[in-house]
Amino acid sequence: MSSLIRTVKEDDRTDWVAAIPFWSVHVLAVIGIWRLGFSWKGVAIAALFYYVRMFAVTAGYHRYFAHKTYKTSRAFQFLLACLAQSSTQKGALWWAAHHRNHHKYSDKPEDVHSMKLRGFWWSHVGWILMHKYDATEWQEIQDFAKFPELRFLNQWHVLPSIVLGVSLYLLGGWTWLVWGYLVSTSFLWHGTFTINSLAHWLGRRRYATTDESRNSLFLALITMGEGWHNNHHYYPKSTSQGFYWWEIDLSYYVLRALAAVGLVWDLHSIPVRIRDRRMVRKERPAAGRPAEALPLVAPLGAPAAASVAELDPAE
Ligand SMILES: [Zn+2]
Ligand SMILES: [Zn+2]
Repeated sequence: MSSLIRTVKEDDRTDWVAAIPFWSVHVLAVIGIWRLGFSWKGVAIAALFYYVRMFAVTAGYHRYFAHKTYKTSRAFQFLLACLAQSSTQKGALWWAAHHRNHHKYSDKPEDVHSMKLRGFWWSHVGWILMHKYDATEWQEIQDFAKFPELRFLNQWHVLPSIVLGVSLYLLGGWTWLVWGYLVSTSFLWHGTFTINSLAHWLGRRRYATTDESRNSLFLALITMGEGWHNNHHYYPKSTSQGFYWWEIDLSYYVLRALAAVGLVWDLHSIPVRIRDRRMVRKERPAAGRPAEALPLVAPLGAPAAASVAELDPAE
């Protein structure tokens, strides 16, 4: 791991003043548990709001707004943005635009949260606590920026978190506020951020993408499927990030259920021939085999496209 870590650039040191609200949520969560006392009911409330909002982060921010892997109505996309933003990870347009940038430049200097280039701390939380990355990269998200309700939410991005906090307090007093927002959100942040940090270090590489992305069951379980990150970098258009039945992807199962009742549609899957290309690569090419039947991904360390979309834009 140490070979992956480089020194953080001088102008990219954590802005500790900007980080005050972020760490305050952690501190208040600890104080809240200390004052209320530990309870399994509290743990259940925290887990509920962790997984409901993790779904919105992965199925909303990521698989819908950043990658458009499925379609939905204007009303449901607004609902998804509200729910995702109740995780207090800034606006849906901001999130998706930054993430599109991550795929364009994964683990290259332009990638704002590369663990390979800048180390664990920076890729996990350092970058998100910097005011210099607060601006929405509008040129990356013009397709969704045309919706005024999404631009409004993006500007007032803490609104859904405030609504959630007040609702929790009215619903169940301090117990629900502390466990349902403060504790749950602290874990939710770090759960989500593992994909920027650990998912580019922990696990196995199935596909020789140009970045360091990995597949990890552990990360997939805590992030509702995002841990299949090497799969995802290889073929970002797929709604499911688990490419085989045993690669558990809870967000995808929920999306399949929503598709069954007509709330979302046109879920995209990776074509089997593209999924299995790495297996083609492992075979010894037969004499006289046509060039197009040979692998399109390069061995580890060799130059390759960032994702299969670059190699095969028709897919
Ligand atoms: Zn990544
Ligand atoms: Zn992505």
